[in-house]
Amino acid sequence: MKKKHILIEHGTVITLDKERRILKNGAIAVEGSEISYVGKMSGLRGSARKGGRVINAQGKLVLPGFINTHMHLEYSGIGRGIADDVSLPTFVNERVRPSEAVTSPEDAYISTMLACLEMIKTGTTCVCDTGGFHPDSVAKGVKEAGIRATVAYGSMDTSPPERPLVGAQQMTTGENLRRSEDLIKKWHGDAEDRIRVRCSMRTLPNVSEELILGLNRIAEKYRVGVNIHLSDTKEVVEAAKRMRGCREIEYLDKLGILGPHWMGVHMIWLSDEEVEIVKKRHVKVSHCPGAAIHLGFGCTQAGKFVELVREEVTVALSQDSTTANNSLDMFRSMYLLSIHKDAKMDPAVFPPEKALEMATIDGARALLWDDKIGSLEPGKKADIILVDTKKSNWVPMHEFSIVPNLVYSGDGGDVDTAIIDGNLVMENRRVKTMDEHSILQKVQRASEEIRERSHVRILPRWKVE
Ligand SMILES: [Zn+2]
Repeated sequence: MKKKHILIEHGTVITLDKERRILKNGAIAVEGSEISYVGKMSGLRGSARKGGRVINAQGKLVLPGFINTHMHLEYSGIGRGIADDVSLPTFVNERVRPSEAVTSPEDAYISTMLACLEMIKTGTTCVCDTGGFHPDSVAKGVKEAGIRATVAYGSMDTSPPERPLVGAQQMTTGENLRRSEDLIKKWHGDAEDRIRVRCSMRTLPNVSEELILGLNRIAEKYRVGVNIHLSDTKEVVEAAKRMRGCREIEYLDKLGILGPHWMGVHMIWLSDEEVEIVKKRHVKVSHCPGAAIHLGFGCTQAGKFVELVREEVTVALSQDSTTANNSLDMFRSMYLLSIHKDAKMDPAVFPPEKALEMATIDGARALLWDDKIGSLEPGKKADIILVDTKKSNWVPMHEFSIVPNLVYSGDGGDVDTAIIDGNLVMENRRVKTMDEHSILQKVQRASEEIRERSHVRILPRWKVE
């Protein structure tokens, strides 16, 4: 796709810059992959006025694209609905892992394309994939879809009874390390730095100490981040006490490896001491309220997200997967932060402005990418969405309710344009990088075939004739 200069004019621009300016009758100029001007229409000068392509944003909000800091692209597209209303052990051991074990590279690619389609159509322009067994298929998919992404190999070398691995899912420590390093060499910085690689461990019960230390060494060598699911349920924390002699974050801290490059996903069952560790080590947190409440993790009972934000820990938002969360719409996730108001019986915790920060600039910080994305500022990459507010769910809108309307009343279907890395990837809700109809058909077919091969049988609760 050839990059044209783009001029977005007459929009209400939510910049997320340091002053958190909102500009009425604002304009943004894009040259190549970068933003060259953000300001009032009246301030447009020189080359910024000459857009190769002019987009009239009257009646629309213009904001940074959302950043989804945790996803399972490899099975997210094809795994929707296969693990609803079951416990986490059933979810992982009886539904997801048997399905992953029979997922082909082509299935992983199709799954990635569907997830990217849903994300782009609901305003997400950057995604962090936590990694499975076919990271090349995921990287190929995100490259073609035009989304910004971090990809990873989902390392696992240990198969305890509570989290057994299936067949080829268990590899040696050395093979895991080699695959992660090879992936960095192959994909890190690809597509003009639209694709980056991170190191990833799926869960602590599935990794040896040698693998944890090895992956951290690779991450430090190549200056990339580390992802891991941590402390999502009470049972996982109890397992860590049995296997490691202490809680999960306490254990990682004892290894002396935690730092700003680590991002813990879910992070629900933390002790007060672990909150202190996270703060002291500048560990990033990826909070997925959709998966937590859908799977009954105990987020409102045990979660310390209000405290983490108060302690100025970087807490970003995520979707997890269509299996865990079922929807990849970041508007829904921003709204779902309201569960913490109910838990604390305080409507002032998590104001909508914080929710929007978590979905944008805090996500960029969590992925170590905030020098390039997460806000609309000259010199940053042009990852921009336009949201149509000329709809019944947006009116009336006052100056004081611009961001509240976005978080509380907005919907992914209101996003009509998405620009990623300076490319017009979606316009008038048509995604230009893929054949939407064909992707939907292929995913339906692939999903049915995987269910056959995996022998995962789920009966409808109501009779379907
Ligand atoms: Zn996950």
